[in-house]
Amino acid sequence: MVRAIVGANWGDEGKGKLTDLFAAESDIVIRFQGGANAGHTILNPYGRFALHQLPSGIFYEHVTNIIGNGVALNIPALLAELGQLQKAAVPRPNLLVSNRAQMVMPYHLLFDQYEEERLSKRQFGSTKSGISPFYSDKYAKIGFQVCELFDEITLMEKLEQVIAVKNVLLDHLYHKPLLDAKDIMAQLSAWKEGIYPYLADTFAYLEKAQREKRRILLEGQLGALKDPDFGIYPFVTSSSTLAGFGSVGAGLAPTSLTEIVAVTKAYSSAVGAGAFVSEISGNAADELRRRGGDAGEYGATTGRPRRMGWFDAVATRYGCQVQGASAVALTAIDVLSYLEEIPVCIAYEIDGQAIEVFPVTPQLNQAKPVWRILPGWRTDIRGIRHFEDLPVAARNYVTFVEQAIGLPVRYVSNGPKRDEIIRR
Ligand code: GDP
Repeated sequence: MVRAIVGANWGDEGKGKLTDLFAAESDIVIRFQGGANAGHTILNPYGRFALHQLPSGIFYEHVTNIIGNGVALNIPALLAELGQLQKAAVPRPNLLVSNRAQMVMPYHLLFDQYEEERLSKRQFGSTKSGISPFYSDKYAKIGFQVCELFDEITLMEKLEQVIAVKNVLLDHLYHKPLLDAKDIMAQLSAWKEGIYPYLADTFAYLEKAQREKRRILLEGQLGALKDPDFGIYPFVTSSSTLAGFGSVGAGLAPTSLTEIVAVTKAYSSAVGAGAFVSEISGNAADELRRRGGDAGEYGATTGRPRRMGWFDAVATRYGCQVQGASAVALTAIDVLSYLEEIPVCIAYEIDGQAIEVFPVTPQLNQAKPVWRILPGWRTDIRGIRHFEDLPVAARNYVTFVEQAIGLPVRYVSNGPKRDEIIRR
């Protein structure tokens, strides 16, 4: 059984909480794309954690956690994250890192920062974690797989060739200090010891695990609308956020996925630039941001205030479709309890016409939201465990979302804690 938990929107849908919950029923949890650029927030008996690279199964002793070949592996950041768990007295996790995963190099972070500086007002709002330069190099075939750390002579030769090209850009485009291959080599050598105990042929491991019918959970980062192909290009991330890529980024057969749960929040939030049709501003946005999530809607990695909006049925339906979702988890419905009336975006108006199909970027940039106002419930719904016990307006809100998306809402999350979940 392979279950994928993926985002239907722009990220920050609450996937971490769902993965933490489902990890209890899994043997293996795998991260298959992205890197340290985003984070999941998890509240559990050990405390509150913002995980960036570690899979969300890390808190369960029975779970093997895998950082797949598709991930942008930031070794110092990963080791620091492991150190934080140790400080919080979390038992030493079972972690395997694919020996084919490529490494975020020290200069990827620099190039990310320099490029945003160069773009100035046109910048993407990058988290400056080096993700875009990393994936560019990976596909330009000048990246470094972690297994390459262990042959220093070949590594140094390749490093010198790559650095020669990087230095031309640093000198002539960015006007920044040049890189020295020996310095970088010294940093890479220092990473070796820390990462070595975790390295494994995770493909072989998963091949065997599938034959043994072990329960596997794929954990997506960001959401469908940040996918480089189907998202709001170019304001997307640099690796595929789709469940379909899960098989590649983890190393599983494409036919192995048995359940795809798309996670969407009862309202919207986004970070970074790009079209966000149901965005709101002013006091309404401030209030929603303050009440959102478990401690306000601020980026788990950057602490940046998230852009806020109401639920967008057009974007979410499309997001679930491109994920190939078989079920939906609707999170943070408790956050809406303060509202007398809840606006939802049911269509986009482009050139005077209402459309319900998510458009390509040039049209998306022209789109205006068409709202419908649903009644609020104005009562605290945290602590409720059965759907029938929700106020009728809250039940109707869930049913509305279900009909708008065209998929069953199997899970309703009404609080950030692990057990604050209604299964339907
Ligand atoms: P992820 O990247 O999709 O895991 O999302 P994040 O963890 O970055 O953001 C989701 C935020 O919502 C976090 O602060 C979670 O603790 C919080 N959260 C998740 N589910 C719920 C819920 O049902 N209710 C509330 N109030 N917060 C939630």
